[in-house]
Amino acid sequence: MRSDETTTTTAAPAAHSHIGASSAYRWMMCPASPRLCEGRRSESSEFAIQGTAAHALAEKCLTGGVDPVLFIGETIEHEAGETEVTGEMADGVTVYVEKVFADLKAHGGKLAVEQSFDLGWLYSGLYGRNDAAILPAEPCGVLRIYDYKNGAKPVRAEGNPQCMYYALGALGADNPTGVETVVITIVQPNSHFKAAAVDSWEVSVDELYRWGSEVLLPAAKRTEDPEAPCVAGEWCCFCDAMAVCPLKQDLALGRLEEPERGCYVLPAVQALKPADVGFLSGFFNSPDFEAWRKALAAEELDLLTRGVEVPGRKLVEQRSWGNRKWADEAAVEKALSELGEDLWVRKLQSPAQVEKLLTARKVPKKTREERLAPLVTREEKVTMVAAFADDPRAGQKSLEEARLKMLTE
Ligand code: SF4
Repeated sequence: MRSDETTTTTAAPAAHSHIGASSAYRWMMCPASPRLCEGRRSESSEFAIQGTAAHALAEKCLTGGVDPVLFIGETIEHEAGETEVTGEMADGVTVYVEKVFADLKAHGGKLAVEQSFDLGWLYSGLYGRNDAAILPAEPCGVLRIYDYKNGAKPVRAEGNPQCMYYALGALGADNPTGVETVVITIVQPNSHFKAAAVDSWEVSVDELYRWGSEVLLPAAKRTEDPEAPCVAGEWCCFCDAMAVCPLKQDLALGRLEEPERGCYVLPAVQALKPADVGFLSGFFNSPDFEAWRKALAAEELDLLTRGVEVPGRKLVEQRSWGNRKWADEAAVEKALSELGEDLWVRKLQSPAQVEKLLTARKVPKKTREERLAPLVTREEKVTMVAAFADDPRAGQKSLEEARLKMLTE
């Protein structure tokens, strides 16, 4: 899968920075957050673990030139532990890997994967690691920066602070090869908005350096101010300080009525106005609320396990058993055959698993697509989402209209 022109380099991961690139959007918007996050454990959600695993798979495939589908069913090691590679994960990573290799083939250059960088020349503590970059082969060429996103909420490449931070990292303090233009590409195959799965933005090097000194640098300095204010917004869902954030506590408790301790009164949903239905549904289904709820549970567990009294709550011993599984499958097979029973179930493999098997058996891609693509279908779904001003999807007036739009897209 990998082009012959590729020279892939990797570097040891840098220690986590409290003003790192991956959290740039959050700390640039909320200067108090690095201080409040200090010393707090990062609670990994299942989504975050899947994202970390997908990045580890992408790194393997980019450095080894291997097709992601060949890893389906295997366990991949990553920073957050170990995860089995699913067909969905491999499909998503394939979109990213194919985009990077297609650009490498079309434009040439040198591929750098998970390359560490340090913006200490701009401000101490600014450092991170690029998912992937293609460094131009010629002087004054185009630098290409890639960021893989596993989540569903669409993220734009234009003006993306995380990617601009990455671009400065790849350019360094003095842009030694005289790059004039940078193309930033975000690959997000699971995006709610299909057309945004691969989004690119071209920016001049002058504009990037100006952004570094006029936006990134002042924002980094603000985080050092002990009086820096908390600023809440959609970035809060990625904040480890959610459970101790004074602003979040005020916002949350201020909206709850508490006639007597431990008794919260919720209105009957049928009595709500449509505007309130929309607001409350958006609030309770937002990643922000979900992350806050999990952070609250983690904080409660932490307090109780440290012996701190939490009124109305306590720790008890859990009595439960895990799922049953066979201790010895061969012995089970023998015992069942002696009983005259055959309990084996033949099951058709999923499209991703079949793709993996046929790829391994070297069945040409063209043949696979001609014979199997017409037999694959995807479940049609409609969903309710927050109506963000920058969401390019048109809303539908009815379920029928939403279905019709999806069928004709
Ligand atoms: S939860 Fe939000 S407002 Fe509070 S510190 Fe974190 S980012 Fe800032």
